[in-house]
Amino acid sequence: MRYKIAIVGAGIGGLASAALLAGDGHDVTLFERFEQARPVGSGLVIQPVGLAVLDLIGAGGVVRALSSPIARMSGHEAASGRPVLNVSYPQDAPGRGIHRAALFGVLWDQVATRGVPVVTSARVASAPQAGGSRRLLLTDGRDFGPFDLVVDASGAGSALSPLRARALGYGAIWGTVPWPITDFPRTELRQRYRAARHMAGVLPIGRLPGDPQPRAAIFWSMPLAGLDAWGTTPLEAWRDTVTGLWPQMAPFLTSIRRNDQMVTARYSHGTLRRPWSPGLVHIGDAAHRASPQLGQGANMALLDALALAHALRGPLDDALADYAAMRRWHVRVYQGMSAVFTPMYQSESRSLPVLRDRILAPLSTMPVVRSVLTRIVAGTMIPPLAGVRAP
Ligand SMILES: Cc1cc2nc3c(=O)[nH]c(=O)nc-3n(C[C@H](O)[C@H](O)[C@H](O)COP(=O)(O)OP(=O)(O)OC[C@H]3O[C@@H](n4cnc5c(N)ncnc54)[C@H](O)[C@@H]3O)c2cc1C
Repeated sequence: MRYKIAIVGAGIGGLASAALLAGDGHDVTLFERFEQARPVGSGLVIQPVGLAVLDLIGAGGVVRALSSPIARMSGHEAASGRPVLNVSYPQDAPGRGIHRAALFGVLWDQVATRGVPVVTSARVASAPQAGGSRRLLLTDGRDFGPFDLVVDASGAGSALSPLRARALGYGAIWGTVPWPITDFPRTELRQRYRAARHMAGVLPIGRLPGDPQPRAAIFWSMPLAGLDAWGTTPLEAWRDTVTGLWPQMAPFLTSIRRNDQMVTARYSHGTLRRPWSPGLVHIGDAAHRASPQLGQGANMALLDALALAHALRGPLDDALADYAAMRRWHVRVYQGMSAVFTPMYQSESRSLPVLRDRILAPLSTMPVVRSVLTRIVAGTMIPPLAGVRAP
């Protein structure tokens, strides 16, 4: 069956959806608010489950070439040096640290190859029902449609999603820097913590297309007031605070000379119970939002896109409920784990970091717990497309 589909948002979920749905023969148009579609933010980890979706799209090879394989995620408590986080990926299935712009470029090429039309400078305001179909109304008054289906992939600020997420008390500043001369391994995500109030991190993110320079994403956790004041925070004082927590991070900070090289990110948490209504379906951050502590958001968007493409191989009347059923348990379990783990790493709590350092960290050295943690970060703790009904 071939449907006329509008996808709102050329981010990770929207581009993946456009590539998969156009590949299945649907008549797809992509709408993006920016004048030129572009990625926002620094780097992220593609987990093995997300890479499998990129392989299906035909983008896995280039992603492997541009990204850094991540063999291990490790974190230490600053004062004692005690290990708090130590999760290894299976040897044959590492995570992939990648620059957002590199991932965006790879997905964009896949969409362009399939000839999907992209309407840019198109800020969607609403998607009203019109008979059995939907129209798209833009904020500048333009009106497109009718469409059999509108896919809302417009992220955390979606104007179409009914999700009202809970703002989290902590976010972070993120920046991208050239990989400096350092003895840090280029195959590990490393973090340092002081209780749950301070966290610094370094993530290898490979390189950009056409540029051999390896890069790192660096991040520093902050409460909301700190994020609000970031633009006027003296850089030297900030550098001193970070290197006071983690002296070995100093070489990663030397190329930060302006505050706007570190971008603020605010996090929120929430999940739509029913991510669809007739003719309208929500994927990615428009359907579920969480802090990036477990490194799953982009992967969830990719898995949503795959589940939706599967579901749309059957009749439209059943497809949206089928999509929701396929993703229900994976999304719920990961959202639940994110809600539990995030305050252990980012909050004012005194007791949660003690629980983390004194009980959970020692537990995590037990072989059975280690293997569970590996499956959690790899995104395979729960089958990502559980409940798939044969089309
Ligand atoms: C700092 C940070 C670090 C992260 N690290 C990781 C990680 O390591 N691993 C991981 O898996 N995830 C990570 N995430 C989460 C991940 O980035 C998101 O979950 C993922 O980008 C969601 O994809 P999406 O397609 O739903 O939305 P987005 O990628 O945000 O794309 C939304 C798109 O919609 C467009 N848009 C918005 N509104 C409109 C409108 N009204 N009309 C038209 N277009 C619109 C936007 O311009 C954008 O292009 C991180 C997030 C942050 C903030």
